[in-house]
Amino acid sequence: MYPDKEPKKPIMPQSPPPGSKWIFYIFIVCSLIGIVLISRNSPSEQTSWQVVKSTMLLHHDVERLNVINRETVEVYIKKDSLKKPQYKNTPANAPQYTFQIGSVDAFEKDLDQAQANFTEPEKIPVTYATTQNWFSNILLWVLPLLVIFFIFRRTGAGLAGAGNSVFDFGKSKVREYGMEKSPVTFKDVAGYEEAKTEVMEIVDFLKHPENFTKLGAKIPKGVLLVGPPGSGKTLMAKAVAGEAAVPFFSLSGSEFIEIFVGVGASRVRDLFEKAKQKAPSIIFIDEIDTIGRIRGRALSAQANDERDSTLNQLLTEMDGFDANTGVIVMAATNRADILDPALLRAGRFDRHIYLELPNKTERVAIFNVHLKPLKLDSSVSSEFLASQTPGFSGADIANVCNEAALIAARNKKIAVDKQDFYDAIDRTIAGLEKKSMIISPSEKKIIAYHEAGHTIVSWELKNVDPLVKVSIIPRGKSLGSAWYLPEEHQVITLSQFSDQICAALGGRVAEEIVFGQPSSGALDDLEKVTKQAYMMVANLGLNKEIGSTSYYDSTGQYDATFQKPYSEATAQLIDTEVRKLVQQSYDRTKEVLMNNRAALDTLAQLLLDKEVVEKEELEKILGKRSF
Ligand code: ADP
Repeated sequence: MYPDKEPKKPIMPQSPPPGSKWIFYIFIVCSLIGIVLISRNSPSEQTSWQVVKSTMLLHHDVERLNVINRETVEVYIKKDSLKKPQYKNTPANAPQYTFQIGSVDAFEKDLDQAQANFTEPEKIPVTYATTQNWFSNILLWVLPLLVIFFIFRRTGAGLAGAGNSVFDFGKSKVREYGMEKSPVTFKDVAGYEEAKTEVMEIVDFLKHPENFTKLGAKIPKGVLLVGPPGSGKTLMAKAVAGEAAVPFFSLSGSEFIEIFVGVGASRVRDLFEKAKQKAPSIIFIDEIDTIGRIRGRALSAQANDERDSTLNQLLTEMDGFDANTGVIVMAATNRADILDPALLRAGRFDRHIYLELPNKTERVAIFNVHLKPLKLDSSVSSEFLASQTPGFSGADIANVCNEAALIAARNKKIAVDKQDFYDAIDRTIAGLEKKSMIISPSEKKIIAYHEAGHTIVSWELKNVDPLVKVSIIPRGKSLGSAWYLPEEHQVITLSQFSDQICAALGGRVAEEIVFGQPSSGALDDLEKVTKQAYMMVANLGLNKEIGSTSYYDSTGQYDATFQKPYSEATAQLIDTEVRKLVQQSYDRTKEVLMNNRAALDTLAQLLLDKEVVEKEELEKILGKRSF
């Protein structure tokens, strides 16, 4: 059972009480005054060795000299001599004068010379003493330390936010939201109905633990959210906290690790400590793969040690607290396969919730959430937008909606219309248009033929996604682009793979046919083709010679040790088969383009004239696509 709780107050950052700063300032001022007073407490008059030698010593007025700490000499004047007029204003208390010397040896030599004509009884006795001024010594040590401490506190607080300083590096930089500060609920998470049902159970655990504990059931401690970046993992965790109305402690995996060894473990301890104090609560660790990788894998021993100890501490903490304390640890990753098995075993992160990229229906729902705050033109519908954005994550959709609104605002429109969304989608897929990039006419011609080549091959082959438009306006890193509307496939067949490789090679083959030589513009295409070919041959069992064998290693063990799970002979066979596959695809692509040679010229010319060619115009040149 949870302890009875007071009504929750917003959690405020802790700052030192305002009075403490003043106490510190007063202390420094008093200390400085103290030092000045102490240094001035000697009543004797400052003079120099030259003066003493040429006057007092010469007239036999000096009774004795006392050398203190080998640097200051006190001059004691004879009582009789004090009556002389030149000593009228000297202090009555001995020593009457002091002066500084550079070195005792030089002083002694000089003194001997000055007394060379003195008789033995006339010679002045010299004594030596060492004195300590403890108070000023201590102050001189302590004060700088205090000042440094205070400066560190201030800069630390300034850099890391309230309550954090350089002396707090063992503390976690946890972001803490009170329940008032996590207003996200399941209403804000569109789609993902199955995932929501599962996390709903966690909300029930947090809200009504007695329903479970009275039956003897243990509340799960760890929930792992797995999904590609931007698929709404953080949003889902926040929604759980918001629904359950409990504090939410959020930290990213990389924030545990600092340059100091041992900090990670200490931060884990601190995080759990804070969460337990506020139980029931949720700890959310984003990108847990940063610290949760399988141990003993990384190549750098130092980094490995620190990460291992952080992970060990996390495991210890998760084992350490009682299942019914009311702290639930949620973690997010997009690489569940590389996590240490110890992290995933029962009693730790044993619940896995998968958040895939949204399908079309889910995209409609996500668009509805993000379109709500926008002022829309009647031409915009979430159905249509969802159909234009296959493969987009929730974050991409949120970004498109915001981008469209920004574009509309830039063009001073009164509402966001369809064209703004088109532009925003294009921008999200391929980056910003770089219309000002200087491209020579001959280069432009190469780019036009390259894109026309992609377009014609994609148009003619059955298993390539339908084309929407083609453009030779440079965007992001690419100089031109063909836009497809990907269909959602769960399984890809051999013929689909082959056609896609041909479509990717279309640009390079067109260049070779038209200009008789290839250019450097096909780097991305060739990289994609090569990776795809290796995937097919070595991993997917899609090559006759290699057979139905897969050398895929989901645990990443071979990658880390630079080993291969096959012999040298197999490696050579894989290389040969990959080359054969690419060459066959190349020949097939060439055949398609040679059969459409005239269309290639027409399309390239149209691209040079208009820069962007839409599907309707493509149909005029190439005829309607039959599949
Ligand atoms: P992740 O943690 O998986 O990388 P986030 O949770 O940070 O992704 O998601 C980023 C943003 O994407 C969210 O703030 C939200 O605006 C949007 N988003 C993602 N998924 C959804 C969804 N299912 N419904 C509504 N918005 C979503």
